[in-house]
Amino acid sequence: MNTLLQRHARHTPHVQSADCIELDGAQGEGGGQILRTALTLSMLTGTPFQIENIRAKRSKPGLLRQHLTAVQAAVQISGATVGGAEAGSQTLRFVPGVIRGGDYRFAIGTAGSCTLVLQTILPALWFADAPSTVSVSGGTHNRAAPPVDFLIRAWLPLVARMGVTQTLALKRHGFYPAGGGEVVATVAPCTDALMPLHLTERGAQRALRAEGIVAGVRGSVARRELDTLSRLVPGVEGTVRDLGNAEGPGNALVLDIEHEHVTEVFTGFGERGVTAETIGKEVARAAQRYLQSTAAVDEYLADQLVLPMALAGAGAFTVVTASSHLLTNIGVIEKFLPVEVAVRPLESGAVHVEVA
Ligand code: ATP
Repeated sequence: MNTLLQRHARHTPHVQSADCIELDGAQGEGGGQILRTALTLSMLTGTPFQIENIRAKRSKPGLLRQHLTAVQAAVQISGATVGGAEAGSQTLRFVPGVIRGGDYRFAIGTAGSCTLVLQTILPALWFADAPSTVSVSGGTHNRAAPPVDFLIRAWLPLVARMGVTQTLALKRHGFYPAGGGEVVATVAPCTDALMPLHLTERGAQRALRAEGIVAGVRGSVARRELDTLSRLVPGVEGTVRDLGNAEGPGNALVLDIEHEHVTEVFTGFGERGVTAETIGKEVARAAQRYLQSTAAVDEYLADQLVLPMALAGAGAFTVVTASSHLLTNIGVIEKFLPVEVAVRPLESGAVHVEVA
């Protein structure tokens, strides 16, 4: 299957005759991931798609700036033709062309998530005809999206183990609502098929490191977040990172839990009217749930790993719980790729996910 993917991406125009895949954006989780996964896999397989009811289960349905930027980025890197790419649109038709490596810059224009835009296009660029540099500006630390720390320290090392040569650098933090952050990625196209990843054990614990990030916010806020976190999760080494007034304003509490085979990253996002102690407790609760489980990954990493694994054609992981994001993403992946993803509860309470 990877030979097929690479041939499409590198040497041939997309398969004009491929049937158009019809998607319902209201299915399952009903969020933006259905669209993003469809864009990625449409580019990689050369299969056009049509989606209705985009983000139907969100309070503001349709394409927001982040989703629109992901669509425009996909259009640009794959020479696609598109219908319905407007703010608020709940329908989109996308016909991909050939993926081209190159130097790209995309500006979201709001605090919409840079990382979600990058996750849409990077897997396509892994199979491009040439290396790429991609700069995305917008939000880097947003609620309901992977913060850039998560991408760099949790997601990137795992896709690197599958054979992806890619770097990610945070140039400037962007918090809600101001945005203004920037992330730059470089990609060297894969010369071989992706390798299957088997991540069913996390291995021995190595470190628990937390960073309280403040930008234009008092350092005492981060200190209180870290105090609450380390009271509830013993062994956490905490540091305050004060970015001053040049970036932000904003605050995030980021906890890395490093094991032999995987690093998980848990994040709390500071908000006006929410106390530092509440943010500390939120991160502690997420960390405790993970530490009490025997699973290798937690729910966010799971729904973000399944697409690269499906591109490899095989792989497995254990996860704390099967989220509706994961199950919905599997449904979209199975429409585009000739893989089956089996989700099986384990006696331990964790869940085993296998791509075959
Ligand atoms: P929304 O509709 O909420 O604006 P969206 O519809 O564009 O967002 P979703 O479909 O909800 O996006 O997908 C959000 C993605 O962000 C998922 O892949 C999820 O795993 C990831 N995510 C959310 N919160 C975190 C977090 N704290 N750390 C890592 N990843 C996260």
